Amino acid sequence: MTDLAKYTKELRKLLESSSNILLISHINPDGDAVGAQLALYHYLNSKGKKVNMISPNNLQEFLKWMDGAGEINVFIRNRKKCIRLIGESDLIVMIDFNQPSRLGEAEKYVTEAHAKKVIIDHHLDPLTIADLVVTDPSKCATAELIYELITGMNNGVFLSKPFAEAIYVGIITDTGNFEYGTYTGNTLRIIAEIIDSGIEKEKILNVVYNNFSVDRMKLQGFALNKRMTVLPEYHSAYIFLTKNDLAEFNHEKGDTEGFVNLPLSIGGIVFSALLIEKDNFVKLSFRSKGSFPVNEFASKYFAGGGHMNASGGEYYDSLENTISYFLTVLKENAGKLNGEK
Ligand code: 5GP
Ligand code: MN
Repeated sequence: MTDLAKYTKELRKLLESSSNILLISHINPDGDAVGAQLALYHYLNSKGKKVNMISPNNLQEFLKWMDGAGEINVFIRNRKKCIRLIGESDLIVMIDFNQPSRLGEAEKYVTEAHAKKVIIDHHLDPLTIADLVVTDPSKCATAELIYELITGMNNGVFLSKPFAEAIYVGIITDTGNFEYGTYTGNTLRIIAEIIDSGIEKEKILNVVYNNFSVDRMKLQGFALNKRMTVLPEYHSAYIFLTKNDLAEFNHEKGDTEGFVNLPLSIGGIVFSALLIEKDNFVKLSFRSKGSFPVNEFASKYFAGGGHMNASGGEYYDSLENTISYFLTVLKENAGKLNGEK
C-alpha cells in the first residue's frame, strides 16, 4: 500500500469515528493554510459532519473573500470561544505546519486537549505531537495533499465550487502562481480538473495577485532600490526593512509578502534573504533556487525552519547586529553557495 493510500485509510477512519472536528491552521495563515483548511471544511460539511475552524490570528484581506472564511474563528480575537471549541472537539486536525509553536497563543490549549490529533502538512521533519501525521514534502502545497486525500476518501473526485476554489488558492499561493516551489505534473493535472470544473480563475487571480495598494507597490520599489544588497561572491542578495521604512509606506500586514523572492530573478543569484525589523527581534525569510537548503540554514542559525527552497526564522537582536551575524554565517556557507558539495 502506498503512503497516500495508508494515510487516506487512517484519516478516513479517524474522521468517520469523530463527531466534533476542529480544523486549525498556523499563525499568519497563508493562502495554502486557509485554502487547505477550507477545502477540508467544505468536504466534511458535505458529509454532514460537525466542523469548526480556528486560525491563531487574523486572515489577510486577500483571503477573506473565500467561501467559508467568515466561519474561521480567530483565536486572539475570540479566545473564550476558541478555547471552548478546542476543549469540546474530539478530533483536532492541524493544517500546513509541523511545529506546535506555529499555533501561537493556541498552542497550550491544543497540545493539552484530550481530542485525538492529526497533522496534515508538506513540511520536512514533522514533530510527532499527533496521533496521525499525514505528511508529504514532495507536495507543493498542503492543498495538493488534501485534494488527493479527499479524492481517495470520497472514492473519486470531489469538486464543489467552494472546494475547488480553496484548493486552487492553496496551490497558486504556495507556488507563486507556478513560478517556484515543488509543483509537478500531478499538481497541474489537479489544476486542470479544477479549472474544468468552472472556477472563476481570473477573478481569483485578480484578488490574490493584482490587488496591491499604492503604498505597497512603492515600498517594493524602495526595498529594491534602497535596501537590497547583492553579494555576487556568494550568489546571494538580501533586503532589509526597518520599522521606520515600514511606517513611512503605511505598512499593512502582508505588504512585504513576496519581496524575498524578487532577488532570485537576478541572474546568478541562488539565495535570497529578507530581514524585517520588529520590536525586539528581526524576522527573516529565506528563498533559494537549486540545491542550497534554506531550511537547514534557518534552523541552524535562526531558530527557524521550513522547506528546502523557502524558509524563515527569527533573531533576537538589533537589525544592525542581525545583518552582521547574517553576513558572518553567509560566509560560512560560501562553499555550498558556490556549488561545492
Ligand atoms: P515565509 O518566508 O513566507 O514567512 O515562510 C516560508 C516558510 O518558512 C513557511 O512556509 C514556513 O514553513 C517557514 N517558516 C517561516 N518562518 C518560520 C519560523 O520562524 N519558524 C519555522 N519553523 N518555520 C518558519
Ligand atoms: Mn504550505
